Amino acid sequence: MTRNTMKVAVFAGDGIGPEIMAEALRVLDALNLQGLELTEGLVGGAAYRAKGHPLPPETLEIAKASDCILFGSVGDFSLDNLERPLRPEQAILGLRKEMKLFANMRPAKVYKGLEHMSSLKPEVAEKIDLLIVREANGDVYFGNKGIRVLPDGRRQGFDDMSYAEDEVRRVAHTAFRTAMGRRKKLCSIDKANVLDTSQLWREVIIETSKEYPDVELSHMYVDNAAMQLVKDPGQFDTIVTGNMFGDILSDQASMCVGSIGLLASATMAEGTYGLYEPIHGSAPDIAGKGIANPMAQILSTAMMLRHSFALEAEAKRIEAAVEKALADGVMGGDLGGKAGTREIGDAVLARL
Ligand code: NAD
Repeated sequence: MTRNTMKVAVFAGDGIGPEIMAEALRVLDALNLQGLELTEGLVGGAAYRAKGHPLPPETLEIAKASDCILFGSVGDFSLDNLERPLRPEQAILGLRKEMKLFANMRPAKVYKGLEHMSSLKPEVAEKIDLLIVREANGDVYFGNKGIRVLPDGRRQGFDDMSYAEDEVRRVAHTAFRTAMGRRKKLCSIDKANVLDTSQLWREVIIETSKEYPDVELSHMYVDNAAMQLVKDPGQFDTIVTGNMFGDILSDQASMCVGSIGLLASATMAEGTYGLYEPIHGSAPDIAGKGIANPMAQILSTAMMLRHSFALEAEAKRIEAAVEKALADGVMGGDLGGKAGTREIGDAVLARL
């Protein structure tokens, strides 16, 4: 599916957000895509300062009128004393809710020459090339919760874990489609030996798999998955899991890669609408210095082209250019190198 127009909401945000977004937009511009329309909007602390809210109505309107969102990062320590709904990070939560974004996708890959960044042995780390699809709108985080007092006077904390079958099915479809575009292997991670929620999760995943006969499906318990991710991460291609297990495993996978300035992510709604952003934050400690690594933002752009616009060849072009720049030794401070933001942008552009 290629479209006549491709409308992208561009929300750069705070801190290093605008600096790294500028490089991502240069890369996008160089591809000369027909029908691409970019509309910029304010989010996070920048929006709060200008409009009094981290996700002002005009920004939300831009998001709704677009096919996807390219997001920088939000966060501003000087605003951390604001009441919670006005804090910069609320922009992401607000967009997730308003745009019904429910499937978080995080690729984790170790690039040649960067094996030493991983906390794993280089010969184990070099095989990492996986993607975790995490359900992001349900599970124990969204269930009935509280702290109650039992008849005998003891306090008891509780959080209900539940998944309705349609919630599992929609993330299953996202995961199977994603696996189809990769090595066609999907591992579903649950705790079906103990949790009924996981039992239903597994049943629905198996039912959905009938529609994707080309994808090889396997199942793994979450405790074993945590071990396998550090023992032999090369065995994984695409992983699908619930909100809490995915929260933990995706951070674990990021550390297995090691380089925060290289990790992109997407949060998808039903269909092809998605929000694409680096996994790192606004890095206030280095903002304005011209030294932030823009690669995660550039790789987020590649994910956007792949998942929202089905432009696989263009996505691969960007990823190959980043990989080549790294192989040629172009590295930012986060990777122990000396290249600045603009220099890294130039290096990727030169290799497109
Ligand atoms: P952070 O990810 O911003 O920074 C952690 C460390 O990594 C810092 O030393 C930073 O300089 C470095 N770093 C991050 N990205 C880098 C890049 N592209 N190039 C080079 N170095 C990079 O996390 P933090 O310091 O804990 O949080 C800062 C702010 O960001 C907070 O306000 C936090 O709430 C927010 N945050 C936002 C998001 C998001 O927008 N999705 C995610 C995480 C944190």
